[in-house]
Amino acid sequence: MTIAEILNQAKAELVARELDNNIAEIIIETRLGLTRSDLWISTDRELSSSEQAQFDNDFARYINGEPVQYILEVAPFYGRDFYVNPSVLIPRPETEELVYAAEKFIEKNPDRVRRVLDVCTGSGIIPISIQAMFPELAVTGSDISKPALEVAAENNTRLKTDVRFIHSDLVNYFQETGEKFDMILANPPYIADSERAEMSDYVLDHEPELALFAPHDGLAIYEQLIGSLPNIVDNSFWIGMEIGYTQGKSVKKPFSKKVFHRQRQLCSKISTAKIGWLSALTN
Ligand code: GLN
Repeated sequence: MTIAEILNQAKAELVARELDNNIAEIIIETRLGLTRSDLWISTDRELSSSEQAQFDNDFARYINGEPVQYILEVAPFYGRDFYVNPSVLIPRPETEELVYAAEKFIEKNPDRVRRVLDVCTGSGIIPISIQAMFPELAVTGSDISKPALEVAAENNTRLKTDVRFIHSDLVNYFQETGEKFDMILANPPYIADSERAEMSDYVLDHEPELALFAPHDGLAIYEQLIGSLPNIVDNSFWIGMEIGYTQGKSVKKPFSKKVFHRQRQLCSKISTAKIGWLSALTN
C-alpha cells in the first residue's frame, strides 16, 4: 500500500473511534524519519513489508489504548525530542512554561544562577532543556526511581548534554553531602487520589503512578521539599515548581514561614485552565 492509502484507511478508523486523527501521520513520519512536509511529498511511496508490519503493529497498539509516545518511544519537549518509556511521565506542554520561566530568570540574572537542581526529574526533560540552553551551568537532576534515571541518562547521551543525575529520595542525597543550589526546579507528583475519577485511561493505565500521585491532597511532596529547602540553598535562591490549578494557596503557605523571611518576591501564576506554576525568590 502507498502512504496515501494507509493514511486514508487509518483516518477513517480513527474518526470512527473518535480518536486523534493525526496519529497515523505521526507514526509514519516518526518511523520513517520524515518531517511532516517530507511526508506530504512522499504519499505515493509504497511501504516495504517490514515498514507496513511496523505500522500495523503501532497502529493496533494505539487503537488498544497505549499512548503514542510510549509506542514510538519519543516525545517532544521545548524543541527537542526525548526518549520516553512507561517508567517516566510523558512530557506535558504545561511543564514547558516552567522551563520558560527558569530560562527567563537565568537570562536576566546570569550572576545569580550557577547550580541548578531539578527534583523528581523523571525523563530529565527539565534539566536537559536548561543545560542545553546554558551549557556553562552545573545542572543536576534527581529522582527516586532508578528506571526513570536510566531514561534520563539515555536522553543526556542522545542530546549531548552534561547533566549530573543522582538517585535520591527528594533531596536527601544533597542534605547528606551538604551541597547547595541557586535554582530549584520541580514538577513533582501532585495529583490527589480523589482526582482519579476525572483522569483519562490513557494516563491511568500506562503512566507511572509514582510520578502522578501524592498523598495529602497531592501536596505531600511540596511540603517535604519546601521543608528541606533551607538545607540545600544559600540565602538567595529561585524556586519554580509546577502545581495543580487548585494548589496555589496551599503551596505558597509554607513560604510565609520565618525561614523565608528575606523573601522578596513570590508569585503564583495559573496559566492554563488546568495547571499553574509557582516561583519564589528569596534574597
Ligand atoms: N520532571 C518530569 C516531567 O516533568 C517528571 C515529572 C514527574 O515524574 N512527576 O515530566
